[in-house]
Amino acid sequence: MSTATQTRPQSHTVSPKGMLIGGQWSESASGARLTVENPAKKTPVAEVPRAAAADVDRAVAAATKAFAGWRKVAPRERGKVLLKIAEAIQARAEELARTISLETGNALRTQARGEANLTADIFRYFGGLASELKGETLPLGEHVLSYTRREPIGVVGAVIPWNAPVMLAALKIAPALCAGNAMVMKAAEDAPLGVLLMAEICQEFLPPGVLNVLTGFGEECGGALINHPGIRKLSFTGSTEVGKIVMRAAAERIVPVSLELGGKSPSIVYPDADEDWAVDGIIAAMRFTRQSQSCTAGSRLFLHEDIFDSFLGKLEKKTSALKIGDPLDEATDIGTIINNKQFTKVCKYVDEGLKRADARLVFGGLPPKTGPLSEGYFAIPTVFADRSNDWRLAREEIFGPVLVAIRWSDEAEAIRMANDSHYGLAAYVWTHDIGTGLRTAHDIESGWVQVNQGLGQVPGMSYGGFKQSGIGREFSLEGMLDSFTQRKNVTVNLDVRR
Ligand code: NAD
Repeated sequence: MSTATQTRPQSHTVSPKGMLIGGQWSESASGARLTVENPAKKTPVAEVPRAAAADVDRAVAAATKAFAGWRKVAPRERGKVLLKIAEAIQARAEELARTISLETGNALRTQARGEANLTADIFRYFGGLASELKGETLPLGEHVLSYTRREPIGVVGAVIPWNAPVMLAALKIAPALCAGNAMVMKAAEDAPLGVLLMAEICQEFLPPGVLNVLTGFGEECGGALINHPGIRKLSFTGSTEVGKIVMRAAAERIVPVSLELGGKSPSIVYPDADEDWAVDGIIAAMRFTRQSQSCTAGSRLFLHEDIFDSFLGKLEKKTSALKIGDPLDEATDIGTIINNKQFTKVCKYVDEGLKRADARLVFGGLPPKTGPLSEGYFAIPTVFADRSNDWRLAREEIFGPVLVAIRWSDEAEAIRMANDSHYGLAAYVWTHDIGTGLRTAHDIESGWVQVNQGLGQVPGMSYGGFKQSGIGREFSLEGMLDSFTQRKNVTVNLDVRR
């Protein structure tokens, strides 16, 4: 693993204007603020308002007022607004990417730039879908006109995590607003700056109050938002643990809820795929260049026994060539873990692996305690082998670059182990045999299975989880229709005699 100090270190601070409430930039009612840290340097980047219940009240009131007008704007006009936002985001993509990189520690070249561009694409995609908010007519006979309308639900309360903050925000904002809803979003406390910048761009084109963005802590601000009586729909992306809290809040008021939650995704490699392209694919699927802080990380690697050692050898060679360092440096492949809490958690898992006599460290280990990498929350890609699927490291979502390799010989047993998880978000299958690939894809209990690739989501696909990885789909046309509209039937008697 290259740990060389990167050239051109860049230190930055950002000056956000505050939170966006009713089209205005605003401090919290209490005046309290929270500090956002650069995880690569452990230094403050910015302060943002620390919102609480009073601020949530204000934002929901602004959204409720704006909803009355926004829902009446013709869908195609709303679509045009989203298309303008897409172009404005594209024009400021580099600024957005640098902000994302600075606050998340995700490498600019391998991750943050892609996220900024995908964000523009998400607005572009949903902007073009406005005409698809169609209803149906029912053939009940000549004397009656019966039709359904797709109506917006109202004010959406959205809560997002920090790992791909701007892209995940766009995935809620674009479909919800396209469908005519208004939104109050709570950004993650660790990464609100890119979301605020995107909100600033959106606000150039939106009526005040249609989009409101709050910054604050989970329970204090997010808790007030999910329990607010003015919220008609909850849309949450984050951990399964908090997802359950959100679902309870939704149950209390019977509001619809979409949950995009955690994962512990399997990669199954067949013996015919012991080749460089499959190794590259495993590195991509494991999201090593995002420090594996991805819900879809393929963090359980099921390798056929015939290729177990040779495949791991190739994986070590290729992973070692990745450069860990300053996320803003163009030469960097791998940035940092988001914060001290996550960093400590990841280190504890690695430590447990190192201490177990029955687990073999293939490569990686604990981060260095001295030198340039000790200045930030840098973790090292790590692979353990020789333990079973029952091990804690193979069951829990680590959300860091720790991969567990498990040997298999019987296909049915590999699939059984892959499915032996309370998660079911993504999965990856690697083989030259298309029949084997598709049979396995169909047997795996996950919302998204990729065969012979380990890429990220694309607008248009119906993305979401099985089991405790979530409920609902948000990346697609059907996601927008199902998650952000409600159907109304209107039935008219045409046979009224005077
Ligand atoms: P988290 O659940 O801790 O926090 C997510 C958001 O919820 C944050 O904004 C946080 O402030 C807020 N929150 C925390 N407690 C709350 C409460 N009691 N009430 C309301 N809001 C509260 O998750 P995280 O650590 O920010 O993100 C990592 C998790 O997100 C992982 O589990 C990952 O798999 C998941 N994730 C899932 C997807 C997906 O598409 N399925 C995408 C990205 C991340």
